[in-house]
Amino acid sequence: MATIWCIGRNYAAHAKELGNEVPSEPVVFLKAASCRRGLAPEPLAFPEESVHHELELVLHVGSPVPLGTDPGWAAVAAVSLGLDLTRRAVQSACKAKGLPWTAAKSFAGSAVVGPAVPLADIGEPDALAFHLDVDGERKQSGRIADALFDVPSILRHLARLAPLAPGDLVFTGTPPGVGPIRVGQRFDLTLVGATTHRWSGQL
Ligand code: MG
Repeated sequence: MATIWCIGRNYAAHAKELGNEVPSEPVVFLKAASCRRGLAPEPLAFPEESVHHELELVLHVGSPVPLGTDPGWAAVAAVSLGLDLTRRAVQSACKAKGLPWTAAKSFAGSAVVGPAVPLADIGEPDALAFHLDVDGERKQSGRIADALFDVPSILRHLARLAPLAPGDLVFTGTPPGVGPIRVGQRFDLTLVGATTHRWSGQL
C-alpha cells in the first residue's frame, strides 16, 4: 500500500499558534495507509473524542522518486485538499513526554483526501491557495507560497529518507486556524488555482 507522508509545522503562523519552534528542516511523520478516507462519512476511530482539523495541500506522487534525488514538481501527478485529523490532547501528552505522536495522527479516518486535480489543470502550482469552511464558517486559509518548505524542498528532503513510489501521498502542512471538528459536521474545501474547485464533505 502507498505511504502517507506528512509534514508538520510547515507554516510559521501555525507552528506559533501551537507554541512550537519554527523548524530549520521539515518535520516528517507518517500515517498508516489504512487511515485514508474520502469526503463522504466513514467510520472514525475514537469518534467520541474531539479532533482538530488541519487543512493541507496533498501531493499525489506520480512517478518513482529514487533515494537521494531532487525531482521537483515533475514527480507530482495531481494535488488534492485534505484534512490531517489530529487528536490534539493525545499529541500534547505525547509531546510533553517526548514520545512519538503516532497515536495522535495515525488512526482510522484521520487522512481525509479530496478528489485529485491533475497538475496540468492547476496552472502555476506555487500560486495555489486553499480554504476550509466548517458548517459554513471559514476556519482556515493558506497559500503554498507561505510554506516554510516549498514542494521541491519537501520532496528532496523525503527522498533523502527513502524512495517515494507512485501512489504515495504527501500532506504538506497546515496554515493557522486549526480547531475542533466532530463527527457529523459538514466541511467545504476550496482550491484556488487556474480555476476554483470546491468540494463538500462530512466528518
Ligand atoms: Mg498537519
